[in-house]
Amino acid sequence: MPPTISPPLLHLPFHTTRARLFSTTAPSRATDFTHIVLGAGAVGLACARRLAAQPGTTTLLLERHRHPGTETSSRNSEVIHAGLYYGATSLKTRLCIEGKRRLYAYCERKRVPHRRTGKWVVSQTPEQAAEVEKVHRFARDVLGRDEEGAWLAPTRWLTAEEVETREPAVRAAAGALESTSTGILDSHAYMQALLGDFEEQGGTTAFASPVVRVEALGRSGGTGAADGSVGWRVWTSDDEADCVTAEVLVNSAGLGAVDVHNMIVPEERRRKAYFAKGNYYSYSASAPKVGTLIYPAPVPGHGGLGTHLTLDMGGRVRFGPDVEYVDSPDDLSVSGNGLAQALDDIAAYLPGLEREAVGLDYCGIRPKLSGQGSVTGGKGFVDFYIKKEDGYHGWVNLMGIESPGLTSSLAIGEEVGRLLYESGHAEPQALDRQQEGKDAASQSED
Ligand SMILES: Cc1cc2nc3c(=O)[nH]c(=O)nc-3n(C[C@H](O)[C@H](O)[C@H](O)COP(=O)(O)OP(=O)(O)OC[C@H]3O[C@@H](n4cnc5c(N)ncnc54)[C@H](O)[C@@H]3O)c2cc1C
Repeated sequence: MPPTISPPLLHLPFHTTRARLFSTTAPSRATDFTHIVLGAGAVGLACARRLAAQPGTTTLLLERHRHPGTETSSRNSEVIHAGLYYGATSLKTRLCIEGKRRLYAYCERKRVPHRRTGKWVVSQTPEQAAEVEKVHRFARDVLGRDEEGAWLAPTRWLTAEEVETREPAVRAAAGALESTSTGILDSHAYMQALLGDFEEQGGTTAFASPVVRVEALGRSGGTGAADGSVGWRVWTSDDEADCVTAEVLVNSAGLGAVDVHNMIVPEERRRKAYFAKGNYYSYSASAPKVGTLIYPAPVPGHGGLGTHLTLDMGGRVRFGPDVEYVDSPDDLSVSGNGLAQALDDIAAYLPGLEREAVGLDYCGIRPKLSGQGSVTGGKGFVDFYIKKEDGYHGWVNLMGIESPGLTSSLAIGEEVGRLLYESGHAEPQALDRQQEGKDAASQSED
């Protein structure tokens, strides 16, 4: 198995580390690696795993922390989403549905703890029921069925008797829509499995390696600007020697992705990152008991899916997340500002709630590309940004990978593979691997 670069090694100049990394069976080439993936969250790991499966390549995964997945990928609801909310034509819908299918199969194959809990979207008023009916119509009329005739995101309205019998503690005065393909997973076990796959395929991971500078190499365009046509150089400290090169750069740096983007592009293409904190609340009482995920009716234009009830793999109830825009991605103090509102929201669908048993738990931060981004389709909706960046060679840029990023991660990995190896725009250096890319993709067992 190739080395995971341990933190003590990173005190050495990076070229010392690189000398070790060259003990690879891959053909020699002008750059140190074929691919560099920035960020070892669920999405970066899935991308790195996919690219490491490409025959004759070498992939380096760079992560600023000492462990994988310590940012957004371990601060979320761990829900395998059905793909009900993100509009007809979005990347979020396509990748969530493909990702859900791949994720269930992967969890089963790799024995990653997961459960098809199902989820109810509950309504208390006719207006809310109308919003939930839109979700149902979307699942039926827009998503529809796959080639074998199965619904892509099966939903059905429950009868009042079913609500009463199956979840007596839950109030759904105007009806409950069931989504049977929604589930939960152990995100940490999932990421460990991805890392294991990546390293078994010959991938190299460098933890404690914060990317501080990125330079496009080569100038093939008419503008004279550097465009990555002969590769990319990435620095992991202010020391000039702490750098490594690759043909392809994948920016999957989550909350840091806009910073990485801004390290590369000219001033007029720089973007602003927005951060929407989601606070979670714990529940210490043993009643009321609920065994299904419960979501309130979606509110159009809202930055989240409402204060929902989710379960972890141990059956522990948690509530949240709410939405609170913050200035810094490091602002991880759990805020109680929204607690009173959250208690009212929860009590609407869980009338037996013991309010004093609800406490502050943890929070996660959504990487947003707009200050008012709506998480559901329609006005204000902002899609995943996953692109081979215009004017550059060999740069796949992933920004705004908020929910359903965890669900979509394996599909995002495949999408990045497709962009690089199947789009008809393969990089000059990579053309000879185009067919191999197709073979690798079609062999995927996810
Ligand atoms: C509150 C909340 C609830 C959510 N609930 C769900 C859910 O139930 N289901 C679902 O599917 N999705 C959910 N999501 C979304 C999901 O968690 C994310 O989409 C997913 O985890 C993103 O993974 P990632 O790898 O892109 O980002 P991250 O997990 O943030 O990983 C990015 C990595 O890049 C590293 N990095 C950043 N900058 C640098 C740098 N300069 N140098 C080196 N490394 C760097 C970071 O340290 C980090 O490890 C939720 C998100 C939030 C915030």
